[in-house]
Amino acid sequence: MTKRYYVNDNSQPNGDHEVHKEGCAWMPGAGNRTYLGEHDHCSTAVAAARRHYSQVNGCYHCSRACHTQ
Ligand SMILES: [Zn+2]
Repeated sequence: MTKRYYVNDNSQPNGDHEVHKEGCAWMPGAGNRTYLGEHDHCSTAVAAARRHYSQVNGCYHCSRACHTQ
């Protein structure tokens, strides 16, 4: 089942733009995110986010499989 993914337009203090799955409590507001399409795994969502930002990372809470330190 695919889920909608979004990337945060605002970077974290370390420069990462976090990728979130719909329903995540840490999802940025509608004015601060870019829609990445529907994906069945966070890895393809992160790849899509790299077209927008060079430094991206999966959200620790909703996309832990794609989160790196
Ligand atoms: Zn998240």
